[in-house]
Amino acid sequence: MISDKMRPLVENNSAIRAMFEEGKKLAALYGRENVYDFSLGNPNVPAPLAVNKAILDILNEEESTLVHGYMSNAGYEDVRDAIAHSLNRRFGTGFRLENILMTVGAASGMNVIFKTILNPGDEVVVFAPYFMEYGSYVRNYDGVLSVVPPDTKTFQPDLKEFELRITNKTKAVIINSPNNPSGVIYSSETLESIARIMKEKEKEYGKSIVLISDEPYRELAYDGAKVPYVTPFYHNTIVCYSYSKSLSLPGERIGYLVIPDEMDDFQELSAAASIANRVLGCVNAPSLMQRVIMRCVDEQVDLESYNRNRELLYGHLTEYGFECIKPEGAFYLFVKTPVDDKEFCQFCKEHRVLMVPGSSFACPSYVRIAYCVSYDQILRSLPVFEKIAVAYGL
Ligand code: PLP
Repeated sequence: MISDKMRPLVENNSAIRAMFEEGKKLAALYGRENVYDFSLGNPNVPAPLAVNKAILDILNEEESTLVHGYMSNAGYEDVRDAIAHSLNRRFGTGFRLENILMTVGAASGMNVIFKTILNPGDEVVVFAPYFMEYGSYVRNYDGVLSVVPPDTKTFQPDLKEFELRITNKTKAVIINSPNNPSGVIYSSETLESIARIMKEKEKEYGKSIVLISDEPYRELAYDGAKVPYVTPFYHNTIVCYSYSKSLSLPGERIGYLVIPDEMDDFQELSAAASIANRVLGCVNAPSLMQRVIMRCVDEQVDLESYNRNRELLYGHLTEYGFECIKPEGAFYLFVKTPVDDKEFCQFCKEHRVLMVPGSSFACPSYVRIAYCVSYDQILRSLPVFEKIAVAYGL
């Protein structure tokens, strides 16, 4: 019954499900407190209290047909205006509400972009390690992913390899900073280089190439690290933002795209993106959550909780002999494995430690450890990590 395009997705999903089921089985056997599940990027820090208050206030104060009704596909004008002004205050940009399109989280935002710009066979360049679902989003519209191999010294993009991968079929490039899974932040110099290469290639091939900045982790940056805003670097940039991590609202499915005025064919592009949002079946972003964002546009989750986890885990794992660059943002450690990453994950699972192999991010010989878990879970897991390190002679 199912389509040929769907079949590999189902097969791939069963591996992830297997890990999920494994976790449940281990918890039933040994008790939840003896299973150290670092596999999911599901925030454990609660949403700011202001979010709950906003929901109650909206229900009490705003008109039901507004709160629960349809609106234009791009979202409520006042919400989009509030977001544009917040970005302008923070990053010195000059956005208007017409530049903001409300989406059903970043996943949907990316699908809207690809539905809007991809023809079959168009290539989309990504930098490994990358969020594995990009491949599915691109293939949804018969695009082809072109992967720049990782620079495992710095996890910054390998610019020489990048340049080689831009062809006359390239339609878009995805960057993700702070990065899932490495936690690195792209510096201004890196963004300048990416922009320079893309401008040269646009000229060489006489076509527009879109830079997609996927930034669900923008607000999760530690030690005062700055995450440069991308649109000033390159005219054809679309920003894909999400409140899943920045306000701990992953189940509420709310985010937005920024489509700046200076993009080529701006009018046609933004109109098409609005229609893509509708015809993909999203119709519009969830209305109650849009109203919440209007009231909570400058709210933040408690970053210090993630930072404490980061320091604890990074400090101990490196002390035990594991190799890992210190993440500057997001909530993942990307750790070098002493043996094949899948074999390592299997060994760790036997010690009831669950994490994701780097090959799932096109970067084998690493594992991703999601530290958006309780401090207590990390504390309890440390002796187990130490035992694993000793077992591999680290
Ligand atoms: N992009 C990256 C890099 C992610 O890590 C995730 C989710 O973990 C998403 C996009 C999807 O986020 P959302 O929940 O907003 O759809």
